Amino acid sequence: MYCTKCGNKVSKSDKFCENCGNNLNPQSVIKQETSNPINANNKVLFGALGFISPVAGLVLYIANKDTEPEAAKMAGLFALIRIPINIIIYFFYFVFWLIELL
Ligand SMILES: [Zn+2]
Repeated sequence: MYCTKCGNKVSKSDKFCENCGNNLNPQSVIKQETSNPINANNKVLFGALGFISPVAGLVLYIANKDTEPEAAKMAGLFALIRIPINIIIYFFYFVFWLIELL
């Protein structure tokens, strides 16, 4: 095979081109990026923010779905989980409010 950048002949086992230093296996770089601990932290952070505030979660999802799709998904997912929980909480507030009126 040949280097995609400079056309230098390289062996399949080479990770980088000896001539120009081009990365010959770009897929391995993408894998490293997805397992990056910063991204993992963002997933937890976005998930937590989505759970605390569904509105913030949906905003984070829309704002980051192209640049950080994994973290954005977490924000959206936890926002969706939180919405029915909020409805239940407000329902109980309403019920207690009615009981106090009686
Ligand atoms: Zn090269």
